Amino acid sequence: MDGDSSSVLLLNSTFEPLTIINVRRALKLLFTKKAHPVEDSQNYISTIRAKIRVPSVIQIIYYVKRPYSRPKFSKKSVFLRDNYQCQYCGKHTAKPTLDHVIPRSRDGKNDWYNVVTACPDCNNKKGNRTLKESGMTLIKQPTEPKYLIYSTVLTQSAIKKWEKYFYNKEKIPKALTSLSSVSSVSV
Ligand SMILES: [Zn+2]
Repeated sequence: MDGDSSSVLLLNSTFEPLTIINVRRALKLLFTKKAHPVEDSQNYISTIRAKIRVPSVIQIIYYVKRPYSRPKFSKKSVFLRDNYQCQYCGKHTAKPTLDHVIPRSRDGKNDWYNVVTACPDCNNKKGNRTLKESGMTLIKQPTEPKYLIYSTVLTQSAIKKWEKYFYNKEKIPKALTSLSSVSSVSV
């Protein structure tokens, strides 16, 4: 999942964010009338016949049933939540590591509330100590991420780009045509 210009946010017929897809798949959904455009990007792609505006957000015409699930706790999800930023020194790190705030050897849990992204230097420096013992502080309290599409944690760039679709649902433009709410299709 990414928020760069080559990715498109796919909304459910109910306007809930469904997933992030690539431009090719988005155009295919539009051309086959399985989706409506909602918002365009600033980019164009050229075909033999025409220049096509690349969509940024599209909406599927059918209701896709997806059960709500909690964000999946994983190494990658923690890095995404923290935007690859060391939670001790605040530096963005190309070599992120996971640090247990309360060390595992002290019964620290392996969950959203005790695991943070750390650069190798800070991780070494902290070692097997608690915050108090090491004198180190966290730039923010770790928690379960709230920005997600179903169980997938989003990148900071995706959050920035499509934030309104995750929050202000009433501000989303109305679809051009009426929606049909039929049984689920796979996307
Ligand atoms: Zn650091």
